Amino acid sequence: MSKRHIAIIGAGPAGLKAAEVAVGNGCTVSLFDAMPSSGRKFLVAGKSGLNITHDEPWEHFLTKYSGHELPTNQWNEILNQFDNTALCKWAAELGIETFTASSGKVFPKEMKAAPLLRRWIEKMRRLDVQFFYRHQVIDFRANGNTVEVTFSSPAGDDVKSFDKVIFALGGGSWRKTGSTGEWVALFEKLDIAVNPLTSANCGWEVDWDDTFIKETEGKPLKNLIVRAGAQSRIGELVITRYGLEGGPIYRLGPAIRSLTSPKVSIDFKPSHSEEQLIAKMESAKRNLLHEAKLRWKLNPATYALLQMHYKEQEGYSVKDLARTIKSYSIDLKKPRPIDEVISSAGGVKWSELDENLMVKNFPNIYCVGEMLDWEAPTGGYLLQACFATGSHAGKAASSIGN
Ligand SMILES: Cc1cc2nc3c(=O)[nH]c(=O)nc-3n(C[C@H](O)[C@H](O)[C@H](O)COP(=O)(O)OP(=O)(O)OC[C@H]3O[C@@H](n4cnc5c(N)ncnc54)[C@H](O)[C@@H]3O)c2cc1C
Repeated sequence: MSKRHIAIIGAGPAGLKAAEVAVGNGCTVSLFDAMPSSGRKFLVAGKSGLNITHDEPWEHFLTKYSGHELPTNQWNEILNQFDNTALCKWAAELGIETFTASSGKVFPKEMKAAPLLRRWIEKMRRLDVQFFYRHQVIDFRANGNTVEVTFSSPAGDDVKSFDKVIFALGGGSWRKTGSTGEWVALFEKLDIAVNPLTSANCGWEVDWDDTFIKETEGKPLKNLIVRAGAQSRIGELVITRYGLEGGPIYRLGPAIRSLTSPKVSIDFKPSHSEEQLIAKMESAKRNLLHEAKLRWKLNPATYALLQMHYKEQEGYSVKDLARTIKSYSIDLKKPRPIDEVISSAGGVKWSELDENLMVKNFPNIYCVGEMLDWEAPTGGYLLQACFATGSHAGKAASSIGN
């Protein structure tokens, strides 16, 4: 009996993991990518330190994921089967040692992605995975029990037939790495529903006043609580020419996007109540803004924001200032353009998929990685989910019963 032939399309971490599991289960595996090499976004991710996962109690880890109608139990089950311990063990088996930073983020000792990727691909070649680069999938269809995929390649268009196909086509950011999101149109044409890909883990644009931005561009705003709707995050923001960047605003992305008019409210003095701030202004009668700057120890950027807020107002009280500094509202225009952000939200809808990540109305087609409709903050959660979904579908597609 001939071996089951599985095509993996997309050679990012999710596709590579799916291929590794499927070949390990005895299938013939062909791996295709539109680009001339594997894992281009993975390599970009490694430029500033490849944060492959996070070392924290697993029940906390699992709370980091969201998405439209994310099926929590199914999702947790997928991650449980390839968790952060499994990921570090897998890296160790490739000869890549990892360490946990004080933040809980886990990195390879060498920090970079290249050594890990090189060893991973060497292992796959030893296992006889066939790599086909510059092969862009442009169409696919079911043909009886097989799937026919049309590729555009330098040699022209080519139709190939497989028993199973696992798509791992990525999200929509960093086009130059191959993650163009162009697959969305193809999937929609074939009636596979997709929630639009949108910027995630990103800064937001603000219409700053010219004078304000001249004084404050690049300035940090430290020790804040940032709120969006009912959610809040602690951390630091940076004022940029186009708006705001920083951990809290990245992590609040889903909450901000759910608001009809995107905005954040900032508490610049989390260590003080409104009453305590008012008490510190005792006997201040004139130059209230200036007094607030001194007595509340406001940094220059926070003071500039306060000045901008009260620029055209007269007759404000100490109470007004205290209230403003505890809940300073900033209207946000839109997230930064998708091409420059770390990850995208949206993707293949969960209602399209069964528990094996197979498309319900398209037997033998599976989807994994960032092209699915989940999102997570930075901190290693993105790669962990790519590995776990790749592993899950790789196992399902190569199991005898399926
Ligand atoms: C600057 C930056 C830093 C990051 N840092 C981290 C980090 O430290 N930790 C973390 O967890 N995550 C990080 N990420 C996110 C992480 O890199 C991605 O979530 C991850 O690479 C997604 O993996 P994937 O396999 O789903 O898709 P991708 O890695 O995007 O791979 C998709 C592949 O599909 C191919 N493809 C697309 N369309 C087609 C087609 N039609 N035909 C054939 N091939 C196609 C592409 O060429 C690509 O190779 C970072 C991302 C960026 C941009």
